[in-house]
This record gives sequence, structure tokens and C-alpha cells, in this order.
Amino acid sequence: MPRHRTPLARPVTGPWLFGGPRRAPAPPGARPAAVLFDRDGTLVRDVPYNGDPARVEPMPGAREAVDAVRARGVPVGVVSNQSGVARGLLTRHQVEAVRLRVEQLLGPFDVWAVCPHGPDDGCGCRKPAPGLVAAACARLGVPVEATVVIGDIGADVASARAAGARGVLVPTPVTLPEEIEAAGVTARDLLTAVRLVLDPEPGIVPWAGPAAAAAGAVPYGAEGARAACRTRETGEGAGGPGPSGGGTR
Ligand SMILES: [Mg+2]
Repeated sequence: MPRHRTPLARPVTGPWLFGGPRRAPAPPGARPAAVLFDRDGTLVRDVPYNGDPARVEPMPGAREAVDAVRARGVPVGVVSNQSGVARGLLTRHQVEAVRLRVEQLLGPFDVWAVCPHGPDDGCGCRKPAPGLVAAACARLGVPVEATVVIGDIGADVASARAAGARGVLVPTPVTLPEEIEAAGVTARDLLTAVRLVLDPEPGIVPWAGPAAAAAGAVPYGAEGARAACRTRETGEGAGGPGPSGGGTR
């Protein structure tokens, strides 16, 4: 008697992971072990629930910024909430098509971790939860505490913190003032953010954990880096608070 299989339902636990086999992690040092980028509003323009590859448009300087990380031999990845899947607005095929278009425009990423759940699904991967960051680091075989997450809203930075990684905020007009206030480390654009994490000035401890703080270190604290950053003290830099775009928060 033939067995009938029940169709698989949409997964309710765990992120979708795309990417090749692990490779050797970068040697220890000032460089991060990996840099993970948010997708919408960070690497590409935020088109809410976009499933159309033709609508993928890189953010200014995105290719240059990601290439700068690759040039150092540091793995790059993407961590992206795609609640449009849970809302019935996106299919996995569309998410994959957009992913491939992003790679056409920005080059290959070593890992993608995508959360297909909605805010009420109770998953552990939707940012600001740590699951995407943790899963991406596990796939890359790199320590999460030596990994940097770069994103445009507070949930990106919060997910980095929750996972034990470092977050850098690159504000856009949809970034809320309180998110900028809470971020700690912000940069005016993606290339500045990448330079900040790749080239901390000599003598500056790039990762200001408790031990570094005890030693008097300042995170990314060189004056040159400060000048390049939008900080809560100065409020300088491109972009700024504005009305929410209602995108993929
Ligand atoms: Mg974003």
C-alpha cells in the first residue's frame, strides 16, 4: 500500500542558510573574523517585501565596501529578516532570486542567513534576536565575539550584542533617533563603517570588551575615526532620522 507523504509546512524554527562550505577563518588579530551585513537599507535600497530581482539597487558604496572586506581575506555574510515570507508576501524562490541578484551586483557572500518568520512566530533568529548572527558565524566557523554586524536599524546592532558580536550602525532616513542614541558606534556610510572595522588606528584596541575597557581603551576611539563617524555626541553625518519607510523592520 503506497505511503502518502504530508507536504512540508513552512519551517517555523531556524533560519534559512545559504552558502558554501566552511573555509579557514582569518588569523587572529585586529581584523574581524567576519563581517555580516544587513541586506535591506544597508547593502541594497529597502524595497518593502521585495521579491523582484529587477528592483534590487545597491546602496551607495556598497560594492566598494564589501570588496574592501574581501580584499583583507575576511569572510562576508548577510543576515536578513524577511518576514514577508511569514506574511505570505514572499516565497522562498523569490528570496533566493533576490539573493542571487544581490550577488550579481555586489559579488559573492560566504554565507546568507535569512529569517523567514514573522514578529509573532517566537523564533530565535529574527533580529534583534541573536539567531541569524550565531547561525552565520557557525556556518563560517568563526568566533562570534570577533565578528562585526553592520546594519541600518537598532535591531541589527541589538542582534549583534545579543549574539556577542560587535555592531556598527549606518543610519538612513528610517533610522530612529533612539536607535542612533543606543548604537554606540555609528558610521556615516557603509564604506566608512568598513574602514572603521578594518583599519582601527594603531594603538587603539578595536574590540572594547571589559578587558580593553579596563586598560583604558576606547572602541574605535581614534580621533580620525571619530571624525569619520556619526556619534551621539556630534550627531553629524549623512542621513538622519525621518519617517519610517515601513519596510523590513
Ligand atoms: Mg535594514
